[in-house]
Amino acid sequence: MFSNYFNEEAETMPLSEIKDLQLAKLKKQLAYVYENSPFYRKKFDEAGVKPHNINRLKDLELFPFTTKDELRDSQKQAPPLGLHAAQPLDNIIRIHASSGTTGVPSFVGITARDRDIWTEVVSRCYYSEGVRPNSKVIMGFGIGFFVGGLPLHDAIENIGATFIPIGTGASDRILSSIDNIKADIITCTPSYAIYLADYIRKLGRDPRELGIKRIMCGAEPGGGVPGVRKRIEEDWGATVTESLGNADILPVYAAECEERSGNHFLGHEYLYLEVIDPDTGEALELEDGVTGELVATHIDRDCVPLVRFRTRDRVTVWTSPCSCGRTGFRVRCIGRTDDMLIVLGVNVFPSAIKDVVSGFRPRVTGEMQVVLDQPGPKVEPPLKIRVEHGTDNGDLKQLKKEIENALREKLIFSPLVELVPPGTLPRYEMKGQLIYKAYEQK
Ligand SMILES: [Zn+2]
Repeated sequence: MFSNYFNEEAETMPLSEIKDLQLAKLKKQLAYVYENSPFYRKKFDEAGVKPHNINRLKDLELFPFTTKDELRDSQKQAPPLGLHAAQPLDNIIRIHASSGTTGVPSFVGITARDRDIWTEVVSRCYYSEGVRPNSKVIMGFGIGFFVGGLPLHDAIENIGATFIPIGTGASDRILSSIDNIKADIITCTPSYAIYLADYIRKLGRDPRELGIKRIMCGAEPGGGVPGVRKRIEEDWGATVTESLGNADILPVYAAECEERSGNHFLGHEYLYLEVIDPDTGEALELEDGVTGELVATHIDRDCVPLVRFRTRDRVTVWTSPCSCGRTGFRVRCIGRTDDMLIVLGVNVFPSAIKDVVSGFRPRVTGEMQVVLDQPGPKVEPPLKIRVEHGTDNGDLKQLKKEIENALREKLIFSPLVELVPPGTLPRYEMKGQLIYKAYEQK
């Protein structure tokens, strides 16, 4: 029998010990950053703060935020890694790119020590999601420049599981690997899990009979969105879990356990996380149900260390104890600031719309698209949404009315639903696109 934890001591560490450890490491890291990163030396000096100002974790709130735009500027000024790099290029063993939803990608360099820390934390996450030394894991993310590739490979092999490197765009090879190697776990985006099930059914086979036990989702919200999760589980007859990561922070730093009630934060010796009010920047008390923007600070990182980095991830946090014994708080990403729409002052995330729409299966397929006639985030109501109806759907007028009512009640905005035939909307092998920019097509 295998242990329930990859690193029991770290994953079940009492909260008071975690805080003491984080404070000691934060002090050391801020001194390192001030000494080695011209970018942060300037930022700290301009804000009138010094590393020795930290006497408790809360004192970090005195320090300024770091934004993605600042990182891009920093890399323009000192290519390739930027003025925030803190390590000479000779010490860098690998460079990844972090995709931006806007603009050019930025580069993420790591030292050998950074790589080992990534591997440790990502291993804890995948283990929490159920990977064991006897698992055979199909890699359904691209193994390229982005951090969703090699770091996951390092971790899965580190656990001792069998890694099957397939990547995207090769659904036929995934199917033959399930058949021939008897792979039992797939890790991929939720969009791809849905795409792949469709692909397999079109070949006249039933994904539920292939023996896949787990699908581990990441890179976009969906695996933890109840309606979407249910759809993938029904498609595959498998358990669906999700994890959370960020290229600039750590490829995967939080993941679900068997309870599946949010992603446990599993990297507290390396990262300090805050949740802030995205409008005022005020740090919020971490307690059950708190919602805001996740802000991350590296407390043990050699290259490209970040202080109070605004992730643009909107999250909800839970701190109540979990039956699995892991002490890290749980976090769920409900959407990205970049995807958020504002309808008459109400914040609306496309992934939340997808959740409501998915609840109407099988009368709908679960595929939907928000149609924008003008650039967001502000949208004049009604918000236009295309929804694929199912093959056997009954009264379409009635269905449209029911979906509109459900959206109005649950998400408090005024929708205009257009039903389209099944198979009309695009499917995705990587991240799904829930917003259709009609204004760009004119
Ligand atoms: Zn748990």
